[in-house]
Amino acid sequence: MSLKVYNSQSKKLEDFIPITPGIVKMYVCGPTVYNFLHVGNFRGVVFFNLVRNWLEKSGYRVQYALNFTDVDDKIIQRASEMGVTPHELSEKYIEEYKKDFAALGLRPHDFNPKVTDHMDGIRSMVGDLIAKGKAYEVQGDVMYSIESFPGYGKLSGRHVEELQAGARVEIDEKKKNPSDFALWKAAKGGEISWPSPWGAGRPGWHIECSAMIHQIFGEQIDIHGGGMDLMFPHHENEIAQSEGCSGNSFVKYWMHNNMLNFGGQKMSKSLGNIVTMREFLEVNSAELYKWMMLSVHYRTLSDFSDSAMEKATGGLARIYSSLALAESFISEEYTRDVKFEEMISESWIKIKNALDDDFSTPEAFAILFDVVRQFNSQVRRGMKPNSAIAGKALAFQKFVKDFGALMSLFQESAHDFLIRLDDLLLKKMNLNRKEINLLVVERSNARDLKDFVRSDELRLKLTSMGIAVSDTSQGSFWEVMK
Ligand SMILES: [Zn+2]
Repeated sequence: MSLKVYNSQSKKLEDFIPITPGIVKMYVCGPTVYNFLHVGNFRGVVFFNLVRNWLEKSGYRVQYALNFTDVDDKIIQRASEMGVTPHELSEKYIEEYKKDFAALGLRPHDFNPKVTDHMDGIRSMVGDLIAKGKAYEVQGDVMYSIESFPGYGKLSGRHVEELQAGARVEIDEKKKNPSDFALWKAAKGGEISWPSPWGAGRPGWHIECSAMIHQIFGEQIDIHGGGMDLMFPHHENEIAQSEGCSGNSFVKYWMHNNMLNFGGQKMSKSLGNIVTMREFLEVNSAELYKWMMLSVHYRTLSDFSDSAMEKATGGLARIYSSLALAESFISEEYTRDVKFEEMISESWIKIKNALDDDFSTPEAFAILFDVVRQFNSQVRRGMKPNSAIAGKALAFQKFVKDFGALMSLFQESAHDFLIRLDDLLLKKMNLNRKEINLLVVERSNARDLKDFVRSDELRLKLTSMGIAVSDTSQGSFWEVMK
């Protein structure tokens, strides 16, 4: 089986065949940088990181661009509220975005174009659209005439007549059709602006992506990604601009990721439930975020509920505990276990089929858990180390790390990760290591003195605090129950 991708335009699964054999050009709409970004903004970033990795693993050379919108109404407004220039504000939040991105441990993109670096390309595209009769100038604004582009609506399924019939379209006397949209906006008094043949102004939002794609990749790209909320009008307008200009098909595969909810509700300012990535990472691990985003299929709504977080924490802990177990048995002397390695090879075939099926990460994770189960059924804590166990441990570790590399997961030392995870959980539970250690030592002492009444009491106390204790020949260990 080869890769099949759900194309939002045809609404079908299609065989993935890039325009130029061996090369994939991919563009994803990035953030508008005027504040810290919230957790929902990174869902697409995490998913398309996997898309790039999987394409590369499948043998393609991928060129990946994700843009920064560094001039727009919100940026101008917030900059003026804060008494800084729009440029200072956007540069600050690009840096903050990069910090979140690095904390998430994702691979950098090949290109991170900024609107303000592409003014020439934008002006030239707007000029072209006017020359081709697709756009018109009114009082320093340039509008795209949607009636000039017969294919308008082919992505979102919304058509010109429907848009006109639909009430609530803002009436603007400058527009020939109420649904026409701005390519260039005349500067309002004192606002940041760039010179143009139509007077000082700045680009509309949609034109930036068309122009940057054109400058970086040319007329056509293979994959255009973004959140589902961008399909209309942003991506519809990108098609109208780019195809209106070139006369060629613009994007071969449109891919849209679904949104992120909070406890069943949409994240919004009015509900006050917006969580920035920075806030999230102060109390949670980056692994948890990536795990939560990828354990749900990218076209399914993902929910950040408490129960989803607990489930994800439990899943992560299971994988990392097994990795820690493997780490404890790995030694230079090992013998390969052919049967175990065959099971892993078969699992890779299943994973390939899952990811080739429009990136079915939930299925891929289920296969990962199967391998974890197999490993845990053959290797247990307390076993006497030998070269056969070392062989299994090594093969298992390689499998988990290779699988994780696709998702940018599981690259940390398992031992360190589990300590950090416990620390984060303890913080949430208002507990600290010191008091738990004291109770565990007290219990061990009671056991040594054969005072089982006291030791059972203490175990119960620890359990009620959410701490599990296990006794091995090497002593008693505890961990936070997950
Ligand atoms: Zn865009």
